[in-house]
Amino acid sequence: MDHDWMRYAACRDRSPAQFFPSDGVGVEVAKRTCVECCVRMECLEYALIHRIDHGVWGGCSERERRRILRRRRTLTAT
Ligand code: SF4
Repeated sequence: MDHDWMRYAACRDRSPAQFFPSDGVGVEVAKRTCVECCVRMECLEYALIHRIDHGVWGGCSERERRRILRRRRTLTAT
């Protein structure tokens, strides 16, 4: 998979720790950066394809990504 999108990440100069929060408040803080990110969709797909379990990627929490994957499995099974 092409990684060029990472060069345009709004978080590239932020602390990586910000995107691996330990609570819901931290998740919301990270998401605020993602909202303004021009590569949000690429980031989300990367996390989904690579089954990345931890952190905020593409503006989605771990739980939200699990939900997306479940929905996709359901859609492909029907
Ligand atoms: S969507 Fe969020 S985590 Fe992904 S590259 Fe952009 S700012 Fe970083």
